Amino acid sequence: MEWLGQHFFTDLPDSGHLLLNCTHNPFLVLLAYLVACAAGFGILDMAERVGHVEDPTARRHWRWLGAGCLAGGIWSTHFISMLAFQAPIAIHYELIMTFVSLLIALIASLLAMQTLSHTHLRFHQYLVASVWMGLGIALMHYVGMSAMRSQAQVYFETRLFLASVAIAMGASLAALLLSSYLRNGAGVFHQLLKYAASLVLGAGILSMHFTGMAAMQMLVPSGTDLSLRADDNPIQLGLSVAMITLLVIGSSVSAALADKKLQHKERDLRRVNALLSELDQARASLQQVAHFDALTSLLNRRGFNQIFAEKVAEKTRTQGMMAVIFLDIDHFKRINDSLGHDAGDQLLTVLAGHIKGSIRSHEDVVARFGGDEFCILVNIHHRDEARHMAQRIMQKMKEPIELAGRRMVMTTSIGISLFPEDGHTCEELLKTADLALYQSKDAGRNCLNFFSSNLKTRAFLELQLEEELRAALRTRSQLVLFYQPIFDMKLGKVTRLEALVRWQHPQHGLLAPDRFIGIAENNGLIAELDHWVLRQACHDLSLLSDRGDTELIMAVNCSALNLARDELADEIEDALRFAGIGTNRLELEVTENALMGNISSTLALLRQIRALGVSLAIDDFGTGYSSLAYLKRLPLNTLKIDRSFIQDIPKSTADSEIVQAIIGMAHTLHLQVVTEGVETQAQFELLLKHGCDYIQGYLLSPAVPFDDIIGVMQGIAMRNPLYPLSVEGKDAPPPNDPAAGRIGPPSIVRPIR
Ligand code: C2E
Ligand code: CA
Ligand code: CA
Repeated sequence: MEWLGQHFFTDLPDSGHLLLNCTHNPFLVLLAYLVACAAGFGILDMAERVGHVEDPTARRHWRWLGAGCLAGGIWSTHFISMLAFQAPIAIHYELIMTFVSLLIALIASLLAMQTLSHTHLRFHQYLVASVWMGLGIALMHYVGMSAMRSQAQVYFETRLFLASVAIAMGASLAALLLSSYLRNGAGVFHQLLKYAASLVLGAGILSMHFTGMAAMQMLVPSGTDLSLRADDNPIQLGLSVAMITLLVIGSSVSAALADKKLQHKERDLRRVNALLSELDQARASLQQVAHFDALTSLLNRRGFNQIFAEKVAEKTRTQGMMAVIFLDIDHFKRINDSLGHDAGDQLLTVLAGHIKGSIRSHEDVVARFGGDEFCILVNIHHRDEARHMAQRIMQKMKEPIELAGRRMVMTTSIGISLFPEDGHTCEELLKTADLALYQSKDAGRNCLNFFSSNLKTRAFLELQLEEELRAALRTRSQLVLFYQPIFDMKLGKVTRLEALVRWQHPQHGLLAPDRFIGIAENNGLIAELDHWVLRQACHDLSLLSDRGDTELIMAVNCSALNLARDELADEIEDALRFAGIGTNRLELEVTENALMGNISSTLALLRQIRALGVSLAIDDFGTGYSSLAYLKRLPLNTLKIDRSFIQDIPKSTADSEIVQAIIGMAHTLHLQVVTEGVETQAQFELLLKHGCDYIQGYLLSPAVPFDDIIGVMQGIAMRNPLYPLSVEGKDAPPPNDPAAGRIGPPSIVRPIR
């Protein structure tokens, strides 16, 4: 087959003379190899660029530049190798075909760069691309060979010709795989790998050429003058071509390097920018954390104080008026304790929304001070404006809220102070608003109060009472225990006593616990107080035992705060041992809400107390939110139904049904039931009918001093309420009224004072 004046797949004719003594100039061969290696390095470098540049136009530019480097490199390798070829006949090269071969090299190189611009190709796709590239390079080579003009006829030995094509394909495949493999990576090792790969690629390109040359057989007619001719100056031309090519490839590689550096710089710059904006965000969120409450997104105390100070300064300057509204959610702790903190948080969020919805958003400032305390700053012209706003908030807060599957209505206590009337500084205004709030809570909550100067006196008195209580606890001189009998409905006699503390105050007279337990709890005195009560009650019980009441059980109250103290069990054990009382003769009364706190630690402590043999009662049952399932987990013995449930019995059928249900439920849980606050015979009979185990209340006796308790028990035994005929008058009136915080004398005890 003859193609472009060259013979392929054809046997040599018989006539003619085969040129055997052709040689290659070693310097030019080495130069060709150098150029081939440079081309290899060029394609590796450009492939890396194409893989890393994001801008599509820039990618296209790098693709073209890469193709140019590769094409120029391969073509120059070929060209210089041809210059290295030395034969004993005159050889010239035709320009057009030489350039056509350069064009073909360019097309094959473009194909290579196009392939390399895809990041995720399968192996077979690389294989197909390398077949085409190999064919392209081979085509370039053989078209380049056809530019050779001489006396000789050119024949190609078939096997070597095919091998040259296969080598072109192999070198292409190697170039593609190495380029895609070395596209990512950095560092010295990666660079060394690239150099090594360039040497391999250079060798591939060159060996393709020389296998093609080895396949070439030149046949000259017999009688041709065969003398080795020194060409014009092949070395000079080869050097020039090599220099130009290396210059082009070198510039491209330098450009790639510069671009890479620029890109790194850009990336660094972007990273710095991102870091800066992150820093900005962090600063903003720090600001948010420092000045805002995370749960409700309202201002926190610190944020509020800042604005408050500015407002006070402004109002002082303009002689304006302003109200500070202090707000506290009533009985919020119960929700937290019984339904858990998540439900509490949810509730606070809803309530915060209610407050925000009730204020004039652009003018007023609202903050959460932690817990369930909120504070609002309002610009006003008249005190009534503050009252109206507070009333609006109270109304809004009463809207029913769905929480943890329950529908509940919350109420709010509010205290208000006015600028400039009640204070000129932030501290004064907050203090006076707080005092007003205290008054609202004291008045039974769910109400609002403005600060008035007599509140200051009251606060002062409160403080004084705290100091006096501290002293009373220290000297143990003014605290006394009263005892209230608890009547066993089955045995028809008093089998238990509840110890109730009183304070014989030198000025205020006998104070009921409601007056000072809160003070003790708020000022860290409650542990000491309850401890004293426990020891005194045990002591008194031992005295009663000595007089013959060996079966009596003593019930002692325990504050919720005390349940958080691990030493409680030891203290109880010590008190019993000291008084010589059996552990089965003490019952600890704990309120329902106290049990709702930290259940795991409380449970451990309760179990410890139960293990001593001491009984446990749940006090004021029904005023909290405890559920049956919850009660089941606690090691309880007794359930005390709160007085509020039987107050309206037997008038309220609903209440009597509730009491009946509670008794039934308690019995199912094997709990004994004490009903507190039984004042009338009718209540007594109803409880008897429903199977209540014990009753306690003024019907039998109020709490009386220790010295009177034996007489009271004897009196009850004589006028046994199980036999109402023995009682004078059906509804015995409650013998005293502790409402004012002072306890008057019941008819059957001696008067105090
Ligand atoms: P509590 O444990 O529920 O005690 C029952 C309260 O109801 C007693 O009030 C008692 O006098 C009163 N009460 C009894 N029967 C009737 C009745 O028929 N009608 C009416 N209206 N009231 C009745 P007290 O003694 O004023 O105690 C009030 C609360 O103070 C107690 O409620 C208890 O929670 C607490 N407390 C009393 N002593 C102590 C104590 O030593 N330590 C602690 N931590 N708390 C105590
Ligand atoms: Ca009690
Ligand atoms: Ca109670």
